[in-house]
Amino acid sequence: METLFAKLDDLYEEMVQVRRHLHENPELSFEEVETPKFIAEYHEKLGHEVRTGVGERGVVAKLKGGKPGPTIALRADFDALPIQEETDVPYKSKKDGVMHACGHDAHTAQLLVLAKALNSMKDELEGTVVFIHQHAEEYQPGGAIAMIEDGCLEGVDVIFGTHQWATGPLGEVGFRSGPTMAAADRFHIKVKGKGGHGAQPHFTKDSVVVACQLVTNLQQIVSRRVDPLDSAVLSVGNFVAKNAFNVIADTVQIDGTVRTFKEDVRNLVEQEMERITRGTCLAADADYDFEFVRGYPATVNSEEETEFVAECAKTVPGVTKVYEIAPQMGGEDFSYYLQHVKGTFFFTGAGNPEWEVTYPHHHPKFDIDERSMLVASKILAKAVMQYQK
Ligand code: MN
Repeated sequence: METLFAKLDDLYEEMVQVRRHLHENPELSFEEVETPKFIAEYHEKLGHEVRTGVGERGVVAKLKGGKPGPTIALRADFDALPIQEETDVPYKSKKDGVMHACGHDAHTAQLLVLAKALNSMKDELEGTVVFIHQHAEEYQPGGAIAMIEDGCLEGVDVIFGTHQWATGPLGEVGFRSGPTMAAADRFHIKVKGKGGHGAQPHFTKDSVVVACQLVTNLQQIVSRRVDPLDSAVLSVGNFVAKNAFNVIADTVQIDGTVRTFKEDVRNLVEQEMERITRGTCLAADADYDFEFVRGYPATVNSEEETEFVAECAKTVPGVTKVYEIAPQMGGEDFSYYLQHVKGTFFFTGAGNPEWEVTYPHHHPKFDIDERSMLVASKILAKAVMQYQK
């Protein structure tokens, strides 16, 4: 391992350069053109077998080791966000309104340079490494489904991925087995009553009164229907009636989000929401439209693989702490890979309070401590070299 770690140390400057190049030239989800080209060229120069346009915009590269062994996939996403960057860094985004504000530039840079380091030791490598460079993580339906349908997991035994975690300090690495990131779904409900004069409610079906009851009744799902040992969130974020003060509203629009970690809880919440909407509207003789839009499913890490990579991380230089991270309510389309093969998705601390590198992901001032790339690449390197089927 020492040789490989030293190799990565030597390549650190290149990692920074690659990350800064990508940071300056971000591309939005499903609009990536130059980024996949850059990635493919990097792998081609190393002599890797490269497939472009996987699932439309993804890149898959393969490195065959000199000895037989498992096929290990490493995944990095490469899309940016529609955010105007507000940092003062010299490598600030050159594109107005587009920014790498989630660290996908770092994910890509550390994976590319790791590929170079592993390539230099391919004779000792047991098995095959598949580098999955995924487009469009930030925008549903995401790039993962299309890449899987296009065969990116063919022959793959296990998959590892990491996310740079700016809200966690450099050196600390978070793992969790089982449900780790939430399923993130949306709902849209229209309560359809009958409008009229505020002074003559008896001639109307007041949709505001019905919708208020509905919002209250929906709160009973988490408190009265979901097993207290499971978790779920149901939040109404939008409630619109828009009328003059003396008019009874014809319709009310209600929109919100649901977060869950288990598929059966997710199904239960959806069913109960529909039933409560139907019942509440029926009681008031009102009508409704109900729409539940599913986002990414929960990210569920395999137990053995999580323990294995966490164990690898403990002795990696630069790692000061390996801890069990709390479940995260954010969504991630790494979840789809884990529906097909075992593996784990972990969180590499990338914040640095001394440099004020503490802004959360998707913030216009988001940045990372770039040394986190060295930490992440070393953990992945060790996992690749030591994983046994
Ligand atoms: Mn992300």
